[in-house]
Amino acid sequence: MALGESDRLATFYTREFGKVRGVAKSARRPRSRFGGGLELFTQGQLLFFETERSDLARVDSFDIVHPFQAAREDLERLMHGSWVVECLGRLSADRDPSPALYGLLLRTLRALEGPGPPSRAAFCFALRAVDLLGHRLRLDRCMECGKPSPPPARAARLDFAAGGLVCEPCARYGSDGVDLSGGAVAGLRRLRTVSWEEALGASLSPSLEAEMAGALEAQMARLIGQVPRTTRFRTQAGRPLGASR
Ligand SMILES: [Zn+2]
Repeated sequence: MALGESDRLATFYTREFGKVRGVAKSARRPRSRFGGGLELFTQGQLLFFETERSDLARVDSFDIVHPFQAAREDLERLMHGSWVVECLGRLSADRDPSPALYGLLLRTLRALEGPGPPSRAAFCFALRAVDLLGHRLRLDRCMECGKPSPPPARAARLDFAAGGLVCEPCARYGSDGVDLSGGAVAGLRRLRTVSWEEALGASLSPSLEAEMAGALEAQMARLIGQVPRTTRFRTQAGRPLGASR
């Protein structure tokens, strides 16, 4: 974000410190020493200093390691990647390190540069990110009656307030959550147990993937407290999460 006359306010997700927001002095001047380093999705080595007056760090330098340029130059990839970094940025606190989330972010950016559909990369990110952020929903039994779920291919409700699945007889009309088909419940459970590469390459019917992705999208919006800006952008462009084109 632009700041003042010529500075930039940049948000980094770092391996050692978690989210770091800092001021890059004169970054908007021509021939700035930051060059293209502060472009979206850029991986690099950050040198920053704490400042006494604010919780914003002072960015000294940012040396590019990998620019993930391909993820910026294609609208589809840009939209899904922007959603990923917005969700991570809004759900993580400043200076709360999580090497696992950092690793997930890197894997997701690599997948966004790869040949697979970017919607799948964002979907797989969301599936794992909610767990790593401490918001894992229980999918193995009904949160109300305790019966194992799903009984083969039965619909259920993903109830965010209850913290997981609620079987059809127990589900309360209008509760904070989304309805899921039995296939989507089984699919989400399976995708949680497979490796990252397997999840990226898993063969899923488009309607099933859209249903699962929609549930994650709803959970993200609930955790953030509003629909992410990038979701609205993607929806307007007709590119929902999990809809491969
Ligand atoms: Zn039940």
